[in-house]
Amino acid sequence: MPLTLRVDGEPWRAHLRTVVQSHPGIVPVAKGNGYGFGIAKLARRADWLGVDTVAVGMYEEAPQVLPRFAGDVLVMTPWRPESPWPSEAARRIIHTLGRSEDLQTLADRHPGSRVVVEGLTTMTRHGLPRQELAAAVSPTRALRVEGVALHLPMAGDRLAEAEEWCAKLTSVDLATTTVFVSHLDDTELRALISRWPSLTVRPRIGTDLWLGNRGVLHPVATVLEVHQVRRGQRVGYRQRSVPRDGWLLVLCGGTAHGIGLEAPTTGVTVRSRGIALAKGGLESAGFALSPFTVDGRRRWFAEPPQMQVSMVFVPARRAVPAVGDEVPVDVRFTTTTFDTVHIS
Ligand SMILES: *Cc1c(COP(=O)(O)O)cnc(C)c1O
Repeated sequence: MPLTLRVDGEPWRAHLRTVVQSHPGIVPVAKGNGYGFGIAKLARRADWLGVDTVAVGMYEEAPQVLPRFAGDVLVMTPWRPESPWPSEAARRIIHTLGRSEDLQTLADRHPGSRVVVEGLTTMTRHGLPRQELAAAVSPTRALRVEGVALHLPMAGDRLAEAEEWCAKLTSVDLATTTVFVSHLDDTELRALISRWPSLTVRPRIGTDLWLGNRGVLHPVATVLEVHQVRRGQRVGYRQRSVPRDGWLLVLCGGTAHGIGLEAPTTGVTVRSRGIALAKGGLESAGFALSPFTVDGRRRWFAEPPQMQVSMVFVPARRAVPAVGDEVPVDVRFTTTTFDTVHIS
């Protein structure tokens, strides 16, 4: 009786193929909650797509990819002397290095390791400042440099910034002509590729690949119980009183799944909130709008989501689902843990 992600398999796979074909050198990103699918599923899918490299966020995630994907695994969090060393798969791991001293340490400890040198961008997360790239060349001689990586912000003139790095890369003696880029849009990518024909630009893409065709992804919650309730009846941990006659639905999906009190703002327009308020007045009574849709409308939480289930009200005149039915739930894919993912 789970929280399920149902996927229309055919159009989803078609979307994945289209994205891969239109982004030569793409490195699919499989990290965190695996964009709702789980990292293991994405690893198998990346293998099916025939790409040569998958990017994970952390070393701890690599073991989920390595047995399911035949190619290389790029770890995007920079290597540090205390990072776990994935010995048996070392050959297939590409490390990200963001500090000169770490390059030196890695070169001393594990010469021949495959590395990507991260450049610090205005994103200001990890990486070497541009003016330090030249000084970082010497320790890389004992390593196998697979590229330079740029993690760009979602705003500002990212293309100009990427180009400054391309110019720097072509001016230093780093043994690579590959640039991994994150978060350039398609127009910017095309511009970068055409302006730097001597470089190989490889986009690292997660969201637009796995979640780029939202219409084929259907998160649904199983209805666990349907209780008829009377106005004033007290329910839930907090024993709040039911605002009017109707139904109390117990739905699968709680805090452990990432269901929060605040429904994601996607799809909840000011207008729909306004309508809900005018019709129910429940927001002013301290109730919160849930992400669950029953009989065509978002329903109010009877109380904050519990660990694995949520309780929502449905007014008496509305059609209620049966126990075992599934109802749509609007979730943020990167923060939701589904119990099952069903790809048709
Ligand atoms: C998560 C991440 C990506 C992928 O981001 P999406 O927005 O999901 O495409 C790319 N690069 C880095 C460094 C990341 O951390």
